[in-house]
Amino acid sequence: MEIIIVGSGTVAPRPERRQSCVVVEAGGEMLVFDLGAGAVRGMVAAGLDPFATERIFFTHFHPDHTTDAANLLFAMNYGTDEPRTRPLHVSGPEPFETFWSSILNVWGEWMQGGYPIKTRELPHTCDSPLELDGCVLTWAPAVHRPESIAYRLDGESGSFVYTGDTEYSRSVVDLARGAHTLLIECSTPDDAPVPGHLTPSGVARMAGESGVERVVLTHFYPAVDDGRLPEAVEKGFDGEVLVAHDGLRLRV
Ligand SMILES: [Zn+2]
Ligand SMILES: [Zn+2]
Repeated sequence: MEIIIVGSGTVAPRPERRQSCVVVEAGGEMLVFDLGAGAVRGMVAAGLDPFATERIFFTHFHPDHTTDAANLLFAMNYGTDEPRTRPLHVSGPEPFETFWSSILNVWGEWMQGGYPIKTRELPHTCDSPLELDGCVLTWAPAVHRPESIAYRLDGESGSFVYTGDTEYSRSVVDLARGAHTLLIECSTPDDAPVPGHLTPSGVARMAGESGVERVVLTHFYPAVDDGRLPEAVEKGFDGEVLVAHDGLRLRV
């Protein structure tokens, strides 16, 4: 599977780092995890076709992970000459249906086109994995917002985990156990921790305990994005450490 980091930033407005979005191309399908501001334009900048999106998965409902859902669906209706006919699958953690219907109450007239939108509310603990084209999706609770979950994709070539926003989380460590690549948030430096988020030492702890081969750091507030990454993580983790940038492509 191929992984494209579309947005590696946060709510802090920085043109060089769009808000959270990661695309996974697996089994011929384009899967989109989170849709923060700038994600749709970021897909185009990264050489991706936003209209090729088949499935959207949200980790939680903070605006820096969700607001471009409105832009993407609006663009699917009015930003292309070829109206979509095939279904779009949109999933998120419980209470996703309440969140989604609230957005549709405001913008539904412009977001809903002539194609089916199939929503799915995921229970916080995965009791039944989703069988996708060429891979299997599982998830587990993260420690950030009450609804927060992290995702894992297992394919023939390897496993990929995306934490979304989280602080140290035993359930995310368990989810990531033995995976090849862990895309993990690293919001603030060790001398300025923020509840609900990770610092470099927390990233190293989670990466080490889960036994992943490679961590890819993302979701940077300006204070942690000071040129001292990845060394700050490498102090506590022996595997490969990469610092995401918008447009970074990875293979698993
Ligand atoms: Zn965030
Ligand atoms: Zn958040």
